[in-house]
Amino acid sequence: MASIALHNIRKSYGNLPVIHGVDVEIEDGEFIVLVGPSGCGKSTLLRMIAGLETISGGRLSIGGRMVNDLPSKERDIAMVFQSYALYPHLTVAENMGFSLKLHGTARDEIGRRVQSAAKILALEPYLDRHPRHLSGGQRQRVAMGRAIVRDPKVFLFDEPLSNLDAKLRVAMRAEIKELHQRLKITTVYVTHDQTEAMTMADRIVVMHDGIVEQIGTPLEIYDRPSTTFVAGFIGTPA
Ligand code: ADP
Ligand code: MG
Repeated sequence: MASIALHNIRKSYGNLPVIHGVDVEIEDGEFIVLVGPSGCGKSTLLRMIAGLETISGGRLSIGGRMVNDLPSKERDIAMVFQSYALYPHLTVAENMGFSLKLHGTARDEIGRRVQSAAKILALEPYLDRHPRHLSGGQRQRVAMGRAIVRDPKVFLFDEPLSNLDAKLRVAMRAEIKELHQRLKITTVYVTHDQTEAMTMADRIVVMHDGIVEQIGTPLEIYDRPSTTFVAGFIGTPA
């Protein structure tokens, strides 16, 4: 059974259609990268999966359950935002436990989950610090920690590395992949960066103007682009 299935998903903002019928089936444990130029609809699609945006048409299911009308907090997903979305007045531990607290999780349980996530992310020495005393990479790990403590079925990332400098970006790509290999949580990762897509994805979904141009492994897309758009965007050598 597909972990996430999108069937003919559509989205309009007012009268303006921006997603024109997207079909994608994502398997359990897969790392899917949605890639395409700015404005093609990646964030809109991700936000519909997250339940942060209404769906105008089609069917979305997560774990076999149709979720079109299910509120975000009942979807068993966690979204990782860019590192600047941390709360500056809270410590690392408080940042990581914040959403659990909102969900009414008991204090002991929050402490246990934060400890365990901090261990996975090598953040144990920093739990009492505030975000301003952390490096960019550490902040990004805290942003991931906030998602991990929720123990979600699905991780959603929207351009999580775009605030980081080039060198750190490369290191964080590897960290996110390693984390995925360890936890095997189904992941949908949005980026406009072809290299990021090629190096991180199990399968890539190439989007353009609100449609899916091609779905395939990095090698398939590189070797056999199915449209001229994909060929140009991914950059096939002459
Ligand atoms: P991407 O993430 O690929 O850059 P988006 O999903 O943000 O693309 O945007 C897709 C299209 O929808 C763009 O044309 C954008 O201007 C439009 N759009 C996004 N959000 C809104 C909104 N809240 N209201 C109206 N139009 C929007
Ligand atoms: Mg976007």
